[in-house]
Amino acid sequence: MIQGEHFETDVLVIGGGAAGAMAAIKAREAGCGHVLLVEKAHTGYSGASCFAAGVLTALIPGEDDEDLWMKELVEQGQYLNDQDWLQIYLQEVFPRIREVEEWGLPLRKTPDGHYARVRGRGSHPEKGLRNLMFTGQVGVLTEVLRKRVLASGARILDWIMITSLLTKNGRVSGATGFHGRSGEFIAIIARATVLAAGSGHFRCAPNTGHRMDNYDATLMAYRAGAELVNCDFTAHLPFCGEFKMGGMNMTVGLGARFVNRMGEEFMGAYDPIYKEGAPRYILSNAPLLEIKAGRGPLFMDMTHLSRDQVKLFREVLPLNSAILERAGVLAGEKIMRKLEWSMYGPSLGMFSAGIAVDTRCASTLPGLYAAGDAAAKVAAGVSDAAGALPFALVSGARAGTHAAAYARDADEPRVDAAQVQESWQYGMSPLQRDDGIEGDFIIEALQEIVIPYEVLMLRHGARMEKALDRVTEVRDTLLPLLYAHDPHFLRLAHEARSLVLAAEIALRAGLERKESRANIREDYPYVDNVNWLKWIHVRREGTGMRIWAEDLPIHRYAVKPERKRYLHPCLEMAKGRGIVTGVGDEGVQWA
Ligand SMILES: Cc1cc2nc3c(=O)[nH]c(=O)nc-3n(C[C@H](O)[C@H](O)[C@H](O)COP(=O)(O)OP(=O)(O)OC[C@H]3O[C@@H](n4cnc5c(N)ncnc54)[C@H](O)[C@@H]3O)c2cc1C
Repeated sequence: MIQGEHFETDVLVIGGGAAGAMAAIKAREAGCGHVLLVEKAHTGYSGASCFAAGVLTALIPGEDDEDLWMKELVEQGQYLNDQDWLQIYLQEVFPRIREVEEWGLPLRKTPDGHYARVRGRGSHPEKGLRNLMFTGQVGVLTEVLRKRVLASGARILDWIMITSLLTKNGRVSGATGFHGRSGEFIAIIARATVLAAGSGHFRCAPNTGHRMDNYDATLMAYRAGAELVNCDFTAHLPFCGEFKMGGMNMTVGLGARFVNRMGEEFMGAYDPIYKEGAPRYILSNAPLLEIKAGRGPLFMDMTHLSRDQVKLFREVLPLNSAILERAGVLAGEKIMRKLEWSMYGPSLGMFSAGIAVDTRCASTLPGLYAAGDAAAKVAAGVSDAAGALPFALVSGARAGTHAAAYARDADEPRVDAAQVQESWQYGMSPLQRDDGIEGDFIIEALQEIVIPYEVLMLRHGARMEKALDRVTEVRDTLLPLLYAHDPHFLRLAHEARSLVLAAEIALRAGLERKESRANIREDYPYVDNVNWLKWIHVRREGTGMRIWAEDLPIHRYAVKPERKRYLHPCLEMAKGRGIVTGVGDEGVQWA
């Protein structure tokens, strides 16, 4: 065996955010003897879960109308939801949140002891989607979960970066990586593995508070041969351009308004009913079209919020409040001025994209489960309306329970010594070189290609092809030169590999979808519910990437769209605003 540390476990969990923690807890509760959770940083203090804004979309049984929630979530998911998954999600989300509350998460309550709730995006005024809120300091949820993982008897190893999955005869039998402080090689043999290492953002704005999520899970799963799905969609959103702060859902729920350079509240022109509370596919594209029309910079106006609203803002978004207070924007219970907002993105996996999983969270590889942002959020379709953080809790729990059952029933995992040697070579090679290129340099080169608005946010096939050529050039010319001075740079080197692959997948899969839906394609401006009610799958085959589309079983789903083609709603509205002068099968003509 290669020098380094070697471990054996029944269930290995990779990633210590909400999904990973929940998987470890539930695997133990299911009777699994040995559960090992490995985390690249410090479990409880890293990942998106630690810095999330505290808004949890959850149906309360008996209080909410499940049929209406199904309808709203499928419409917001633009009909690409896996409705079997969505039903499970709706039934399990509140019990999971209640459980975490019992473990110590403070949920906001009304004076008479009911759960306080704010209206969700794109929802019916009286009855539709509603959010619960947790309060307290940043990290309150993940601290509660860390304690519970330890109390469950699972073992946590922090500062371990996993770089490869081990497979034997198609079954996943563990993983390898290195210690982020000592650089020591780590090999773990596991009967079952849960991949819960988050997704990524190409290191653009929303890595608020953490930088560890860089599509490592996507890369590991893809290299091992697991299927990915929904990677044809990337997410983008308006985001504060002055400070790094999240929580737009909450801010908009409180009554914040977007205005353009002329001081015009423009969201009402794109969605007269919901305005800033519009579904994601409108909220993310309307500001983009305003910018395209030269009406930026855009601002978020919260100056009119009442004392009570600002008090709530402070309670639910303590990190934002601290930032705005330090900057002199928040004084007492008043927001003093408008904030400049721009677009952030693209993000592959913030919603929809990820490792393909069934309702047990099993991937297409035996022995491998995925949860949270690492998994495809198929319940939500092409939206995050079926709650990102709540999905991490629900899917984490499912992955842990089913991985434990698999570990109990499966044969001893077998490991190929030659593959461990190969993984060592792959994992440690940047440290073995005398010189070369650091990961950060490659990440910057990649950002220049994928972050500009008119590549993955506002799409056109020709521009995407050009970007793809540049990404493959980075892949072929720069990645082989990756160099690491020490374990810190080794982490960056692997993150550069993950980010380059994620960009290639997003572009290739995005080119495959020949319509507009969550993402507008100028060359295919119609939403096509005749030909494109399909999920796009990606898998490694040999040295190539296979991409194919599969029909949704829409015939047996409860919520169905009209089978027609229509102009993307934002382009329709942009016509009325004089931003678009003509549109047809040949594409969009801009004013
Ligand atoms: C600023 C912000 C605000 C948000 N607000 C909300 C909100 O209010 N409501 C909501 O529903 N959602 C919100 N979200 C989204 C939500 O936080 C995520 O969907 C959710 O936390 C994902 O949980 P996870 O466990 O899958 O991933 P994470 O919490 O990101 O955990 C992944 C973990 O894996 C570790 N890891 C990564 N790579 C490796 C590797 N190679 N080896 C080992 N470990 C690895 C990371 O260090 C990390 O700790 C927000 C996100 C952000 C960024």
